[in-house]
Amino acid sequence: MKVIVLGSSHGGYEAVEELLISHPDAEIQWYEKGDFISFLSCGMQLYLEGKVKDVNSVRYMTAEGMESRGVNVFSNTEITAINPEAHNVTVKDLVTGTERTEDYDKLIISPGAVPFELDLPGKDLENIYLMRGRKWAIKLKQKTVDPEVNNVVVIGSGYIGIEAAESFAKAGKNVTVIDILDRPLGVYLDKEFTDVLTEEMEANNIKVVTNETVQSYKGDGHVQKVVTDKGEYAADLVVVAVGVRPNTGWLEDTLELHPNGLIKTDEYMQTSAPDVFAVGDATLIKYNPGQTEVNIALATNARKQGRFAVKNLEAPIKPFPGIQGSSGLAVFDYKFASTGINEEMAKKLNKQTKSALVVEDYLMDFNPDKQKAWFKLVYDPETTQILGAQLMSKADLTANINAISLAIKAKMTIEDLAYADFFFQPSFDKPWNIINTAALEAMKNER
Ligand SMILES: Cc1cc2nc3c(=O)[nH]c(=O)nc-3n(C[C@H](O)[C@H](O)[C@H](O)COP(=O)(O)OP(=O)(O)OC[C@H]3O[C@@H](n4cnc5c(N)ncnc54)[C@H](O)[C@@H]3O)c2cc1C
Repeated sequence: MKVIVLGSSHGGYEAVEELLISHPDAEIQWYEKGDFISFLSCGMQLYLEGKVKDVNSVRYMTAEGMESRGVNVFSNTEITAINPEAHNVTVKDLVTGTERTEDYDKLIISPGAVPFELDLPGKDLENIYLMRGRKWAIKLKQKTVDPEVNNVVVIGSGYIGIEAAESFAKAGKNVTVIDILDRPLGVYLDKEFTDVLTEEMEANNIKVVTNETVQSYKGDGHVQKVVTDKGEYAADLVVVAVGVRPNTGWLEDTLELHPNGLIKTDEYMQTSAPDVFAVGDATLIKYNPGQTEVNIALATNARKQGRFAVKNLEAPIKPFPGIQGSSGLAVFDYKFASTGINEEMAKKLNKQTKSALVVEDYLMDFNPDKQKAWFKLVYDPETTQILGAQLMSKADLTANINAISLAIKAKMTIEDLAYADFFFQPSFDKPWNIINTAALEAMKNER
């Protein structure tokens, strides 16, 4: 069997790894249009902040490493067309410009997404940057140490915008984050959490501007100002982090796409074309807490989908189990994580929810290490089934969110969590773990 894999990031990489395990005799061709195999944008903040020194180490695997395991790796090589009836792809060598076709028995594509750019007056000025991939990582890193850069404006306060803002603030720059929403990280966390994080950012030299829409850039060759509907902000560098769009324009005539350009797949990762599978940021994913499909661009999702595409390569036998959308981040001293439905998602899905919020020290009073923790449990008002949770503290309690992710998947109720068996040891928690406490609080609502 000859399998072609497109994309050397998370989805493509995982597909190749699983192929090596479950189809050791397959001929594998792995295509990447960039000049670098397997860069992890997830590691970009560590590089920008100098914790990781070598940008080239931020990867899963080298081309040579994969070649030594029998994979034919083609970098600087773009798959420009899929021809499902002929079971071949058109491949372009981006160095020589030559084209050829390659037959496949099975094709797995993980073309990913590209950052949205804002089509605004002044968009061609220099020093308006994006944050995804190795080339932008290198360019951004140079700006963290550029003495000419004093004022940095980050547009967008999702995970990526906040990572950019924190990296530049730690590099000693004056940072302004602008968002159209009423609070930073509003897609991921409810207000009780983002109020605290906003204070934390402002205490660390980040000005947080919300409810403003960027309208243009001003400057003379280089960007100098970002203009919103309500004000102007000095900028020697702008980082645009306003989301991503699927990299699927080239597939419009080949595969069935959703109106927003995401590739349609079934629960086996199979696209509308026989023997063509799609995974990663360019697809929708089964979202268990909402019993629907959503696009949640995470490496974790892409990797799991890559694995399932291979499991279903020969026959549709293992449906994708779905995800809860679990993610986490640090904002200076705070560490937070969330899973499942929050207020923003509930609105989007038009879903009724109830919640219980616990704000308490996560250790006992006598323990000098105690830190305040915020934990919010979201549940279905009719069934009391767990739908989501958010957790934040200066202590790293984020792993608790993985327990809630499992509880959502297992369809557990607040009562199940209230009396769930969690260990107690005074260095780690209290006799009633914060998950128990929040669930007990939720049960009070239901009396
Ligand atoms: C700054 C940043 C931080 C992040 N941090 C995290 C994190 O901490 N945790 C987490 O879970 N997720 C994180 N993510 C999200 C994660 O990076 C994405 O969800 C993930 O990269 C998706 O993988 P993918 O394989 O779908 O696509 P992509 O990563 O977009 O990769 C697609 C690859 O395919 C190649 N390609 C596309 N078209 C072709 C073609 N026609 N021919 C050949 N090659 C092609 C592209 O060059 C690219 O290398 C982060 C993202 C960013 C930008």
